[in-house]
Amino acid sequence: MKFPHQDKYQEIRDALRGLCADYPDEYWRKIDEARAYPEAFVEALTSAGWLAALIPQEYGGSGLGLTEASVIMEEINRNGGNSGSCHGQMYNMNTLLRHGSEQQKRRYLPQIASGELRLQSMGVTEPTTGTDTTKIKTVAVKKGDRYVINGQKVWISRVQHSDLMILLARTAPADQVKRKSDGLSIFIVDLHEAVGNGMTVRPIPNMVNHETNELFFDNLEIPAENLIGEEGKGFRYILDGLNAERTLIAAECIGDGWWFLNRASQYAGERIVFDRPIGQNQGVQFPIAENYIEVSAADLMRFRASELFDAHAPCGAEANMAKYLAAKASWEAANVCLQTFGGFGFACEYDVERKFRETRLYQVAPISTNLILSYVAEHILDLPRSF
Ligand SMILES: Cc1cc2nc3c(=O)[nH]c(=O)nc-3n(C[C@H](O)[C@H](O)[C@H](O)COP(=O)(O)OP(=O)(O)OC[C@H]3O[C@@H](n4cnc5c(N)ncnc54)[C@H](O)[C@@H]3O)c2cc1C
Repeated sequence: MKFPHQDKYQEIRDALRGLCADYPDEYWRKIDEARAYPEAFVEALTSAGWLAALIPQEYGGSGLGLTEASVIMEEINRNGGNSGSCHGQMYNMNTLLRHGSEQQKRRYLPQIASGELRLQSMGVTEPTTGTDTTKIKTVAVKKGDRYVINGQKVWISRVQHSDLMILLARTAPADQVKRKSDGLSIFIVDLHEAVGNGMTVRPIPNMVNHETNELFFDNLEIPAENLIGEEGKGFRYILDGLNAERTLIAAECIGDGWWFLNRASQYAGERIVFDRPIGQNQGVQFPIAENYIEVSAADLMRFRASELFDAHAPCGAEANMAKYLAAKASWEAANVCLQTFGGFGFACEYDVERKFRETRLYQVAPISTNLILSYVAEHILDLPRSF
């Protein structure tokens, strides 16, 4: 299968392909079966410096942009892996880089770059408020040189394989602020200190091998210096981080899309039924061809979003549209691939069913398709706000 074009990131792509070759389908299949964490893979990625891509050189990283980070994430999925195990470090990094103090950067970034610390978790979603983020009920109350945190989060990923978490909590009551997005703040939580000292973690068994949890906060105390940026401005900081997250997830979906297309076209060319390759039938060819067009188009929007982000330009529309198009295209690619494989698509040994489950997540998380449509309707088309 030919890919649309050679881009200027070929060096990164080649290096990632070399690394991923040591972690073939069988590795990911076994990890999925055991619902385990791909520790060896994440360790190799960290040692090679890829998870420190966004950290500026002065703090020990390689100082690359979100565009390069997105290529790294894309390649993991394109080579059969699942970057959901480690993408948190990339999107959380921007929050710390753009809004953290110099002291916080000096304290954490060199250790994250060297792999001593992992910043893989972000705690935003809550069980009773869901997508309606400004209504979150987790509170952080300042007492002297500490914040005391009470509340609950749900679906918080990679807590067991991270050292740090970025947490969103309300620091001023919703009825005492001008806008509902005011009065929210973000904090760095040291997970080792927190677990058992006010924070409890309950894993959520789920459809994919995505380590994710419920978190309970009962008078968790964290140092006041762990506040990122200004108190009350956290929602704005989180939105910026969410644009990075959406763009990175879009790239992962593009990676999935290429993986499915590659497998589907290869299988369609080899599988002989009625004395000819199934791919000779236009009923089999056309869905694959149509999906190739869709993945290619989504890929362009992902580059547009990441380039705007790197230029510090507004990119909310592009990040959302990239996520929407890419998640849709990768899900369609999964369906087309499964259909092309027929019954064999359901057999675990072909990995199609695993990747099918994995890519389905991105229609829902980190933002559902409905909420993206609502963003475009309200913020781009100036249609009346619906909620
Ligand atoms: C595996 C996994 C990992 C996750 N990891 C993290 C994480 O690390 N950190 C974190 O903070 N969160 C995480 N999440 C949470 C994820 O971001 C949310 O599940 C997602 O944002 C949707 O929120 P919800 O599940 O509460 O759905 P709800 O808000 O309850 O929505 C349910 C459905 O209703 C639709 N809906 C709701 N309101 C409207 C409306 N006004 N108009 C139209 N449709 C609407 C939604 O689109 C959705 O389809 C994760 C989720 C999963 C499944």
